[in-house]
Amino acid sequence: MTEPLIFELSNDERISYQIPALDVPAIAPEEVIDSAYLRKELNMPVLSERDTVMHFTRLSRLNYSVDSGFYPLGSCTMKYNPKINEDIARLPGFARVHPKQPAATIQGIMEVHKLLSDSLAELTAMDAMTLQPAAGAQGELTGLLVMAAYHKKKGNTHKNKIIIPDSGHGTNPASVSMAGFEVLNVESDEDGCVDMEKLKKVIGPEVAGIMLTNPNTLGLFEKHAKELSETLHSVDALLYYDGANFNAIMGWARPGDMGFDIVHLNVHKTLSTPHGGGGPGAGPVGVKAHLAEFLPVPRIKEENGKLAFSSSDKLSLGSVVASNGNFLVLLKALAYIVQNGGDGLKHSSACAVLNANYMMEKLKAYYHLPYDRLCKHEFVITSENLADYGVKTLDVAKRLLDYGFHAPTVYFPLIVPEAMMIEPTETETRGTLDSFIEAMIKIAEEAKTNPDLLKEAPHNTPVRRLDETTAARKPDINWYKRPE
Ligand SMILES: *Cc1c(COP(=O)(O)O)cnc(C)c1O
Repeated sequence: MTEPLIFELSNDERISYQIPALDVPAIAPEEVIDSAYLRKELNMPVLSERDTVMHFTRLSRLNYSVDSGFYPLGSCTMKYNPKINEDIARLPGFARVHPKQPAATIQGIMEVHKLLSDSLAELTAMDAMTLQPAAGAQGELTGLLVMAAYHKKKGNTHKNKIIIPDSGHGTNPASVSMAGFEVLNVESDEDGCVDMEKLKKVIGPEVAGIMLTNPNTLGLFEKHAKELSETLHSVDALLYYDGANFNAIMGWARPGDMGFDIVHLNVHKTLSTPHGGGGPGAGPVGVKAHLAEFLPVPRIKEENGKLAFSSSDKLSLGSVVASNGNFLVLLKALAYIVQNGGDGLKHSSACAVLNANYMMEKLKAYYHLPYDRLCKHEFVITSENLADYGVKTLDVAKRLLDYGFHAPTVYFPLIVPEAMMIEPTETETRGTLDSFIEAMIKIAEEAKTNPDLLKEAPHNTPVRRLDETTAARKPDINWYKRPE
């Protein structure tokens, strides 16, 4: 079924507005505006208010969202976002603050910044934080620019390479090259962790640092984190912790305790602020004390018992966003932390890990599990065992839509062919986990008995299978009159 376009619903007899009768002299537009600038034909659809509301409400129901169903999109932590966070972010004192308001008038807002910074520093074992970066990837860039500033100050001009294990997140190499460094790739060992032997072979004076996604994109905890810190520090290289997957370890393990110098978090994943479709988000960055002077300014500091914006750090890399970051996103993260408390955060991580392991254990008899060890918040399985029936991971993902589920992340990480990366998160009930498991098992059976059912899926979504390359490269999103 195709929904009509709003232009196709247009009906000149159903105008949806009423304006008062004209009580001033009428002036033709040509009398006051140069005709070159007059729009000839606006061609707007005309609908009654009732029809307009029905149209957009129907369209909105075609969207799949965290609030409408299970969303096991690996590496994205699509957990439920408590609605009380929204209530708090809507309080006028927070929602209506102006970005350029002077510090004396927004002490409460600055207190929110300070409380959140202190909480995140405590959770990560870092000494100073910036809340400026507007996304995880921007946090990465900010952290790497801090690294560059550190080496510049020390005269380490020969240091131009950053190590990234092949199980790192896709944004890591992109950030490294944006920050002006070269990527040194290191392979994983058979346990799915950084291969320390291979790493030691590439370590040398030109290594500026390492970026470690932990848990890595296989959902596995990097066992050698501590040893890495000794190895890297011995050549004056810094350690960057990609903490976007912090949902797995929050309250249990801290990057600073593992010897890391810089970390970023994705509050829009771990700390339950809504995300998807490109934002909004926030990627706060924490650093150890010796790197604090390079953080973005203005920083919020206490001066004479009041909070103030300080730009006194001469070696700061400047600011990375206009006006101190995505305040309402940060506020929601603080609301979540305060409601849960330390024990609550620790408990959510434990449940996230438990849910992922439960699902992995239930599914491994039906799908190929390349790394069979305790996972953290997510795990990777593949459809390789169904290859004999001509079924690929894309077919499994599309068939899941017919069962009413969002598909997991597919074809990532790149080191596992036909990967499906599944992250259930802690907010799902046992019932939801079981119905997803049941659907996955049914699909594995269908692959054997009726593979075409999968290859032609989805069958009952508003849009059937797309040519994904054309859809991504030449998206057809403009209105034009459909051929009669
Ligand atoms: C999501 C994610 C990122 C990127 O975060 P954005 O906010 O999307 O820029 C980086 N690293 C890891 C491990 C992630 O999961």
